[in-house]
Amino acid sequence: MVIKIPETHPRYKSLLYREKIVEGYHEGYVVLQGLIAHGRGECFDYILGEETIEEAYEAEKAAVAKLLLSRHPVISVNGNVAALVPGEVVRLAELTGAKIEVNLFYRTREREEKIADILRRHGAREVLGVGEDADRTIEELGSERRRVSSRGIYIADTVLIPLEDGDRAEALKRLGKFIIAIDLNPLSRTAQVADITIVDNIVRALPNMIKLAEEYINLDRTSLENIVSSYDNKAILSRVLRYIRDRLGELAGE
Ligand code: ATP
Ligand code: MG
Repeated sequence: MVIKIPETHPRYKSLLYREKIVEGYHEGYVVLQGLIAHGRGECFDYILGEETIEEAYEAEKAAVAKLLLSRHPVISVNGNVAALVPGEVVRLAELTGAKIEVNLFYRTREREEKIADILRRHGAREVLGVGEDADRTIEELGSERRRVSSRGIYIADTVLIPLEDGDRAEALKRLGKFIIAIDLNPLSRTAQVADITIVDNIVRALPNMIKLAEEYINLDRTSLENIVSSYDNKAILSRVLRYIRDRLGELAGE
């Protein structure tokens, strides 16, 4: 059952996305662990003020430029991502020429199919990583968590991993991939290991990135390369932590 939330509610958007995650759980493609992860994200979002901070926007710019420059960019999709922003994933993939791959921490054929269906209903022509398509393994990872597509993540130069686990982010990094993470927790291992870390809610990050891609698609390679090379992820992560410290200080009346 889905609860109707009045639009005037002060936390309307947050509650709406929470309901989407719950719906995904009832439909069998979001896992219980995904609900916990969403709550962890909400907590960090509350601390950030539930808006895209300047540091996140800078990371989003570099990420879009990098996706446009990459030869084989891939967007990795899990249950939470499919529940929250399926249409935006498809649009960003179209604009940047990225492939879409279902990549689940808790992999079952049923969940893969359901997520691929959602993406196709939102216009995706091709969804990788489903069933036999996930035909390669990342040696460092255990069991089902290591399966990837030889047409997708396996050959990718750049992988966008929204809401990804730290072990898998580290494994992709060891394989030499350029990693773009979207993660509200600047301290998570995923956030720390990524080449570009977007500390923003995926529901704001993807629409921002779509607008940027519509603009950047007209830029030449040199301009795009300049955007990427002038970006410093370590500095951005430090600035995010300082932002949080200062915001909490202000709220505490310091
Ligand atoms: P790690 O494994 O990277 O050390 P973790 O185990 O705490 O971190 P995971 O469950 O593996 O986290 O990954 C989920 C991550 O996604 C969390 O860091 C969480 O804060 C973040 N997250 C959850 N919902 C959102 C969202 N809507 N937008 C952006 N990030 C989110
Ligand atoms: Mg984890």
